[in-house]
Amino acid sequence: MCVADLLTIDEALAAILSRVRPLPAAREPLDVAAGRVLAEPARAAVDLPPFPSSAMDGFALRAADSPGTLPVVARVAAGRPAPRALAPGEAMAIATGGVVPDGADAVVQIERVNEDGETVTVPAVEEGANVRPRGGDARAGDAVVDAGIRLGPPQIGALAAAGVAEVVCSRRPVAAVLTTGTELRRPGEPLRPGEIYESNGAILAAQLRGAGAEVERLASVADDEDAHRAAIARGLGCDLLVTSGGVSVGPHDLVRRVEAELGVEEVFWRVAVRPGKPVSFGVLGSTLVFGLPGNPVSALVGFELFVRPAVLALQGAAEPGPRRLPGALGASVRLNGARAQLVRARSRRVGGAIVLDPVTGQESHMIVRAAGADALVLVPRGNGELAAGSPVDYIALG
Ligand code: AMP
Ligand code: MG
Repeated sequence: MCVADLLTIDEALAAILSRVRPLPAAREPLDVAAGRVLAEPARAAVDLPPFPSSAMDGFALRAADSPGTLPVVARVAAGRPAPRALAPGEAMAIATGGVVPDGADAVVQIERVNEDGETVTVPAVEEGANVRPRGGDARAGDAVVDAGIRLGPPQIGALAAAGVAEVVCSRRPVAAVLTTGTELRRPGEPLRPGEIYESNGAILAAQLRGAGAEVERLASVADDEDAHRAAIARGLGCDLLVTSGGVSVGPHDLVRRVEAELGVEEVFWRVAVRPGKPVSFGVLGSTLVFGLPGNPVSALVGFELFVRPAVLALQGAAEPGPRRLPGALGASVRLNGARAQLVRARSRRVGGAIVLDPVTGQESHMIVRAAGADALVLVPRGNGELAAGSPVDYIALG
């Protein structure tokens, strides 16, 4: 296969997303819904606020009675409405969040009045001042959060405030993680000659959990066909299987061959991207099968480009693709004639713009250097250099 035959990043992502079927949805308590994607819009149970409410500690009155000195006829606390309506010429003390009584149309802050026992002297106030109207944030029946949106802290808070106790969301995808390589040891164990510590399992498990999946970590396997077969067969029982290593062209790269034996239909192998070219993707029934290369930065980048969107699409996310943000290069980058590059960079804000400084050490084994980055800069393929200051897209690393 020559370079021109390799899929572009966008082609590969489109091929993946076209194979994803969203998982079934169920009704879940709001308490367990953080990070989940709504399968149906969630509607407000009540107007929000549910009543005209005071934005300040102060005095409720009719704006038409200000300025003036008014009798204080009641004291309204949050959750303790006044026993009766306010009559013309009266004031009621009111706390933030208290129900503005019928008959009142404004609240004057406590700092602006003189209170003298039974009366209060108020300046001129405008009608509506410091009153939060009923339904000003949302109306009962309004969609508070739409289908396809992932519930982060603001969305969870909005649903709770609107009285929504249950939501309909897809179940979490179950993802198996399998790392391959005879040379891999678990951190904490002594290294023998030629061995290195296994890091991709930790990277991928963290990324998968962050994307909303439940993770089943399979024990790392040596470069041995039988060991591969048993572990891959187990992983194929999950919604997705993510492997690392063993997808290149060496004699010990067994993942794709064993997957094919087990019935996986390969959709693509190799993408015109650096790092991470030998990435593979296939399907077996509804199981999505990703083979990421073993170098840790390649695995990290391959996940962000291809696996995270698939995990989000499985959950029914409306916009699963990596979000591309605009920035400017902080230093020049050498272009690659054959492949787009994902350059690890540190972002900084300069005025209104984001400037991206590539970290030193861009080789795909340099996970420690990559750990200093918070962004992947998308550098298109081409010749020569992309100059410092050039506009680029980047993906934020979470
Ligand atoms: P491979 O894709 O299997 O040819 O591996 C490429 C490089 O990544 C080799 O140097 C491996 O030792 C290294 N590597 C593979 N898997 C892991 C892993 N799970 N953690 C750290 N390094 C790995
Ligand atoms: Mg290997």
